[in-house]
Amino acid sequence: MEQRFNAYDLSYWEPILSGGYAQLLGAHQASLSSDHSVLEPKSIPDLLELFKRADSDLPQDLERILKYSNHLHHPGYMGHQVVPPTLVSVFAGLLSNYLNQGMAVSDMGQSATVVERKVVLEMLKALAWKDGDGIMTSGGSLGNLTALLAARQAKSQAWQDGNLKDSCVLVSADAHYSVDRAVRIMGFGEAGVVSIPVDEHRRVRAGALEGVIKATQAAGKNIIAVVGSACTTGPGVFDDLPAMAKLCKAYDLWFHIDAAHGGMLLLSEKHKRLLRGSELADSMVIDFHKMGFTPALTTTVLFKKAEDSYATFAQDAAYLWGDSDFEPWTQSGLRTVECTKLMMGLKAYANLFWLPRKELVSMMDRLVDQTKFFASEVSVREKWELLQEPDVNILCFRLKDVADAKQYEALKKLVDKGSHYWVSTKVDGKFYFRITVMNVFSELKHFKSGLEAIEEFVS
Ligand SMILES: *Cc1c(COP(=O)(O)O)cnc(C)c1O
Repeated sequence: MEQRFNAYDLSYWEPILSGGYAQLLGAHQASLSSDHSVLEPKSIPDLLELFKRADSDLPQDLERILKYSNHLHHPGYMGHQVVPPTLVSVFAGLLSNYLNQGMAVSDMGQSATVVERKVVLEMLKALAWKDGDGIMTSGGSLGNLTALLAARQAKSQAWQDGNLKDSCVLVSADAHYSVDRAVRIMGFGEAGVVSIPVDEHRRVRAGALEGVIKATQAAGKNIIAVVGSACTTGPGVFDDLPAMAKLCKAYDLWFHIDAAHGGMLLLSEKHKRLLRGSELADSMVIDFHKMGFTPALTTTVLFKKAEDSYATFAQDAAYLWGDSDFEPWTQSGLRTVECTKLMMGLKAYANLFWLPRKELVSMMDRLVDQTKFFASEVSVREKWELLQEPDVNILCFRLKDVADAKQYEALKKLVDKGSHYWVSTKVDGKFYFRITVMNVFSELKHFKSGLEAIEEFVS
């Protein structure tokens, strides 16, 4: 007997999904016009209770989900580095989910493979890495691990023989924690993370790096890679990449750049100077879901030399790839941790090729320019101080003469109020408000009203 499944039936789902679509668009419009809170704080146990109710259906659940999410398209959203995605990249994400291409082998993702290729080539072009290659993977954290695995294989036969004794990676303490994790995942242990001191602007500079290289080599350790940040996550600082690249060349060391946050600026005439020196690196990670305006997770790992990209897993996977006569780049799974992988490239492709490039770039420029504008607003206010002038769209600032605990309390009140979503960080043990301007709708008035609300909360 023929069975009927509603799960794939358009006539069944069309009215329900159209309703859901209308709810979503309504929420989007309300976000843009600040008609609701950025974030309506609610305790997780309370939310669990709410979701336990027996009347769960799509419209009601959707209402709760929308109400109790952080609204990234709201101009008061200036918190973390996650971006409000463009509508066209959201559509690309939907398409990617529907098609659900496996991608590990090319016949499970022919167009997906080509779309990813175009994205990778576009970014290689921006770096002028003519003999380079790259892949896309699920996030900057996994991207850093992928690149460092290739570095390890380039400097040893670790895939076959295990780690060289006393292997280590040199990186500043301000780098994203995923680098530290990647090193420990590779089995180098705590001693495998050798810290490069930063200068007074929290930047790695040549002198400090050379000292650490010499000391580490003198101690008989095997340096697998040096990692530079473009930029660091906390204060948003770009290391001195040209100087680091030069030293790595002189000492024959692998230079990896974690440009998860700032790498997209390679496409900006106005701001690409921040990435000067990156063309001299061996590998680089860029997140499109940060300054590339795509939904997560959409990351590329790029290698200056194409063959290095195959070093990550110097592994024989004959059952998948053994007998076919293919170009190796067409088989995604050869070079990624993922076996099954969504058509993530399409989300980046959408913004790179379906959005006018000029618009994409001016959106990126806007984030940086607005942040500098906000910084000057902090500077002219007596009561406030900046950690330092911003390199990019991350800004740290604090009230001069107010105790840390009181500032932290005020931040909590600001978030509870629902008008703003800001976060905080600690630098040298001191509290700072931290904003990342990821939203092109965040105007000076939104920033000012945040400062003024904080002033009121502490008075
Ligand atoms: C965000 C970030 C990461 C982590 O990337 P995910 O995509 O969140 O895994 C790594 N490094 C830097 C510098 C970052 O800003």
